[in-house]
Amino acid sequence: MTVGLFFTEEHEMLRKSIREFAEKELAPHAEEWEEQGGFPDWVFTRMGELGYLGLHYPEEYGGGGGDYFCNIVLAEELARSGSGSVNMAIAVQVGMATPPILAFGTEEQKQKYLVPAIKGEKIACLGITEPNAGSDVASIQTYAEKVPGGWKVNGNKIFITNGARAHFMTLLARTEKTKGYKGMSVFLVDTDTPGFVVNRKLDKVGMRASDTAEIFFEDMFIPEDALLGEEGRGFYNIMWELQGERLIGAAAAIGGARLTLEGVIEYTKERVQFGKPICKNQAIAHRIADLATKIEAAQSLVYICAWKYDHGEYPVKEISMAKLMAAQVAFEVADEALQFMGGYGYMMEYPVQRAWRDARLGRIGGGTDEIMREIIATTLGLYA
Ligand SMILES: Cc1cc2nc3c(=O)[nH]c(=O)nc-3n(C[C@H](O)[C@H](O)[C@H](O)COP(=O)(O)OP(=O)(O)OC[C@H]3O[C@@H](n4cnc5c(N)ncnc54)[C@H](O)[C@@H]3O)c2cc1C
Repeated sequence: MTVGLFFTEEHEMLRKSIREFAEKELAPHAEEWEEQGGFPDWVFTRMGELGYLGLHYPEEYGGGGGDYFCNIVLAEELARSGSGSVNMAIAVQVGMATPPILAFGTEEQKQKYLVPAIKGEKIACLGITEPNAGSDVASIQTYAEKVPGGWKVNGNKIFITNGARAHFMTLLARTEKTKGYKGMSVFLVDTDTPGFVVNRKLDKVGMRASDTAEIFFEDMFIPEDALLGEEGRGFYNIMWELQGERLIGAAAAIGGARLTLEGVIEYTKERVQFGKPICKNQAIAHRIADLATKIEAAQSLVYICAWKYDHGEYPVKEISMAKLMAAQVAFEVADEALQFMGGYGYMMEYPVQRAWRDARLGRIGGGTDEIMREIIATTLGLYA
């Protein structure tokens, strides 16, 4: 049965159970994990047990066989953990590092990496960004040189989510030095391979419970069967992956924005100044009305993109729009919520400061605002 335009009764049941899990098993630890600078691995295994890491993957690999909206529900409801870090780490596992395995992997690769990732037994990370190649993915320099029996990889990656504790990396590397974006390939790399070096965990403004690592590859030998998909197709395959990444990121951003807005609405109803709750000042009420409207609009765009994506379309322009809008709305909501809480909003004891710091990443990670605009402008034919 359909509930609303996009969701069925099954989706709504799933929503309820993920929300319950996030509120009961994750949210009580959010602050402690933030202070510790990390959350424990049991979150992956527990979510694997509950089936949440493979909702949209085929049952033959241990997945739930659901549609793409199951992942949207997951991203929205995990926001209820109050930890953007957990949501981001899980999004990397479910919606970024593993979809290329299902799409392009061999049966052996699916059994070796996808099945345990769905169970939460193997943690995944995605290695694209390098110190000298961020927005310009086509300029990556990490080089996989063909050697007898496999490849020898040298180079480095930066800002890698889950990078310090992952069991494997979905890695984009150059396999031809002179062929530009046509000379790249994707590999699946076990992180215990000699030469895979976690150089350091990076200290961040927000998402502090998520590990973000700098990785070096030092004469790292990987076997021939580490190649994921066709040699030379890596750039195209990663561009395909990025569409799912941006959509999940947008859904998570809107989930977080909703939670923040709900919290600040409560606050403005309770906080009394000049003899009345501050929400009874039109200046604040109308701003909240604007924010609620923007959340609704951004969420509708996310749902339309998800519907198209789920029906086999590849709506790059609309996904870029959804990512751009959702990230901006999420940060605006967090910023305004902090403002509506006055000095209390600026104190570390209230979670809104964390939402503000976490939401800021949305405008950078997975492609910056500027790059989203660049894609939209290109698809509008402005540079033709
Ligand atoms: C916490 C965190 C987690 C991350 N996780 C991962 C991960 O798991 N895996 C991974 O591979 N990467 C990850 N990233 C990397 C992220 O995707 C990049 O940071 C992002 O793509 C931007 O690249 P950059 O930081 O090198 O910025 P740059 O590309 O150097 O950009 C700097 C500024 O210049 C602007 N700019 C660049 N080119 C143009 C242009 N043509 N027109 C207009 N403006 C432009 C950008 O928009 C930006 O404002 C993560 C980043 C962070 C901060």
